[in-house]
Amino acid sequence: MRRPLVMGNWKLNGNKAVIEDLIKGIDIELNGVEGVDIAIAPPVMFLDLAKQLLSQVQSKIILGAQNVDVNLNGSFTGDISPRMLKEFGTTYVIIGHSERREYHAESDELVAKKFASVKESGMVPILCIGESNAQNEAGETLEVCTRQLDAVIKIQGVDALNGTVIAYEPIWAIGTGKAATSKNAQYIHSAIRAHIAVQSEEVAKNVIIQYGGSVKPENAAAYFTQPDIDGALVGGAALNAKSFAVIAKKAATAKDLIYSRTQFIGKNII
Ligand code: PEP
Repeated sequence: MRRPLVMGNWKLNGNKAVIEDLIKGIDIELNGVEGVDIAIAPPVMFLDLAKQLLSQVQSKIILGAQNVDVNLNGSFTGDISPRMLKEFGTTYVIIGHSERREYHAESDELVAKKFASVKESGMVPILCIGESNAQNEAGETLEVCTRQLDAVIKIQGVDALNGTVIAYEPIWAIGTGKAATSKNAQYIHSAIRAHIAVQSEEVAKNVIIQYGGSVKPENAAAYFTQPDIDGALVGGAALNAKSFAVIAKKAATAKDLIYSRTQFIGKNII
């Protein structure tokens, strides 16, 4: 059975004091909450600090990174390798976030190679996919999402998605306050799952598909009560411990009920 994952992407925000406050705050707010995996992705400079703080309070919060280089080592000035992230206690690595695709010209092929490199290094990739506003208006959402997904399947095979996470993040919804409706998001999630199911029903059934894009305490429950939405990748609202905790708690409550009712293999288009 799938388990929801709520992850905070802190992007290029914070300093030592802010990171410490956030981690302590989130840990207190979420102490004892079961039924959801909770992860944070601080800026890479603060991974070690985050690791130390989490271990001091024996927190269950899982550590993630926002990006990684494709290479394991070598002459790649300024880059950070998957092995280094692993050594610093990282479990999840966000791959192909739209901000990386846009500001750093990351192609589908490069993202697919990073996906492979993260897996080989013993971590879990979170593969971000999603369409721009123009693509959405042109009715190209599914075409874009499946192309981005197929880049990974092409070099790795569908089984590579086993134990990994996909984050459907419509670019027009990221940081804009203009979130996708829960029904539209469910439609895309279900279609993504159905696309994977063509090659493997087992993989489709088990892969976690998060929604990301202006998720807030007020709209979170509407996503989590959809059968194919397995949690959220949260940007802005993750920078506030109370807001982030409310979102994670809503995932724990809603998903417990939804998963126990049905089994899904991309047939939940509503
Ligand atoms: C993100 O950047 O992954 C994101 C979902 O941001 P926000 O929640 O702020 O829209």
